[in-house]
Amino acid sequence: MSLSEHFHQISKIVLPERCLRCQTLGSLMCDACVAELHFVTGPQCLCCGVPFGEHGGHHRCSRCENDPPFFDEHRALFAFNQASKDLIHTLKYQNGFQVRRFFSKIIKNHPLGHFDVDFVMAVPLHRKRLAQRGYNQSELLAKAWADFMKKPVKSGFIRVKQTRSQTGLNRKQRFRNLQNAFAVSSCTPLQGKRILLVDDVLTTGATLNMAAKALKNAGAKAVLATSLAMVV
Ligand SMILES: [Zn+2]
Ligand SMILES: [Zn+2]
Repeated sequence: MSLSEHFHQISKIVLPERCLRCQTLGSLMCDACVAELHFVTGPQCLCCGVPFGEHGGHHRCSRCENDPPFFDEHRALFAFNQASKDLIHTLKYQNGFQVRRFFSKIIKNHPLGHFDVDFVMAVPLHRKRLAQRGYNQSELLAKAWADFMKKPVKSGFIRVKQTRSQTGLNRKQRFRNLQNAFAVSSCTPLQGKRILLVDDVLTTGATLNMAAKALKNAGAKAVLATSLAMVV
């Protein structure tokens, strides 16, 4: 157990639980905030997981049909809205370990269930960003998935280029910004492996796509991907 996790265990005993979003006393997420989190449900793209609304069956969306991503399948838990945005902000900057606990409870009862993979990896942060933040928020989510599926989390996937923020960039610029940003350590053999790649949020899909490309180039047979939330 890391020092911060140890501290977290102690603080849990001393301090009563508060809603991660609005600070209401009583539970990790109050009923009003839970009601604002919208699960991605219904027919969706077999590849990127974008929902199609009430009508039509599962199929590949035109974007994935015309320009197939390097990941084989992506599924998000929540649609990106104010509530999931707040949750991701808390995960990244305030209370990552508590969000991991909340996330672990959610995935136990979620139909996403078990992914058919050999192990789990997180989309890595550059070491400078990691030093600033102290932890990788996607790794916390990856550990929750790994615990739930009883699969190992593998390290050795690294971000070698410190990319500028993707905010404000168009789709083409986002891909260019992430060119050669990821690398796999030779100590982590991926040949023929099926990997679950975990990220916090999917916006255009550029980050997941370039990360999946690096894993495929290193020999991965399949890259399934999952995010806490996706822009729909
Ligand atoms: Zn609340
Ligand atoms: Zn799609």
